[in-house]
Amino acid sequence: MTEGSSDSRLSVIADNIKRIEENIEKAKLDASRSDTVRLMGVTKTVDPEIVSFSVRNGVKLLGENRVQEFLDKRDRYEGSPEIHFIGGLQTNKVKYIIDKVKMIHSADSEKLIREIAHRAGNAQLTMDILIEVNIGGEESKSGVKPEALDELADMVGEFPDVRLRGLMAIPPVDVNGSSEKYFERMQRLFGDLRDRKNGVPGYLIDTLSMGMSGDYEAAVRHGSTIVRVGSALYGQRIYK
Ligand SMILES: *Cc1c(COP(=O)(O)O)cnc(C)c1O
Repeated sequence: MTEGSSDSRLSVIADNIKRIEENIEKAKLDASRSDTVRLMGVTKTVDPEIVSFSVRNGVKLLGENRVQEFLDKRDRYEGSPEIHFIGGLQTNKVKYIIDKVKMIHSADSEKLIREIAHRAGNAQLTMDILIEVNIGGEESKSGVKPEALDELADMVGEFPDVRLRGLMAIPPVDVNGSSEKYFERMQRLFGDLRDRKNGVPGYLIDTLSMGMSGDYEAAVRHGSTIVRVGSALYGQRIYK
């Protein structure tokens, strides 16, 4: 079986992009929103040629999960997409991506934020970060507990080379297949953070990263500003 960029696969992806963009607009209307919601293409396992096709078709923002896969593929991305790191990040890998991504969504510990700040300083840049919140309180998942969010957010202000832009979450899906109540909680945490940090140096709270293929419309109704979409855009992932 051959895999790759056959015309039919590409036309499916072009249709997916149009449909997802329309659905985002509808969800914004439902919530009476007129601000911007960005569609992020989540590229894990997707060939760089396919990723480049999506960029040409309007997906200007990409999300990377795996450091090595990203380093292997990035030179073959066309069209100058903006790239964010969204996956679990070990402190010893920060140095490989620090000057290659515009934002890190998965900051969830003092140790990691300290390392991001250190590497950003060395590279003479300011790194934008989101704090990942474990909004479902799941043992197995990364992210800071909601109770510990304020303390970690306060700590970011101690480092001149990072700037906190907001929050990210990967909520669990409940028995009804909905993440709605978690999106509601995230929206509240985000609003509280914005109220607390507005105008404080080191903070520009304007980004709420939540919603994936199965639930991005609900996330948009609850204030998401970046939806991270993989399989609904590129098709089911094929793990090799
Ligand atoms: C894989 C992934 C996504 C996209 O998941 P889909 O269900 O395929 O849309 C979004 N966010 C993160 C952090 C991911 O790892």
